[in-house]
Amino acid sequence: MPVYEFRCQNCHNRVGIQLSYAEYGVKAVTCPVCGSNKLTRLIGRVRIAKSEDRRMDDLSDPSFMGDVDENDPKSLARAMKKMGQEMGEDLPPEFSEITDRLESGEDPESIEKSMPELGAGGMDGGGMDDGGMDDF
Ligand SMILES: [Zn+2]
Repeated sequence: MPVYEFRCQNCHNRVGIQLSYAEYGVKAVTCPVCGSNKLTRLIGRVRIAKSEDRRMDDLSDPSFMGDVDENDPKSLARAMKKMGQEMGEDLPPEFSEITDRLESGEDPESIEKSMPELGAGGMDGGGMDDGGMDDF
């Protein structure tokens, strides 16, 4: 269970409070020193999660894809590679195959047709299903 750090506005102690992710933001937290509920979150691991959220926001931000021409497979391939790098995860083997084929100028639709597993269930794992990858 993660420990979240708070600064007590009453006694000004820095306190660590163990909260589950489900409890965080829901459960009322009180200062273990003075019992005050005027606690302010200190920068900690949640900031990391937030920055990841921010990163995912960037990926879905239209400006991120701003220079992508959907009718240009090479442009799509570049965007997909950029996205893949941003995700920083192990990409499925299909991913590089798709980008390679896009870069060689192949039509995305014909790639999709030749890879039926993409249509059923998409690219499994890594949360790819939730992203904008469904278009492929
Ligand atoms: Zn306190």
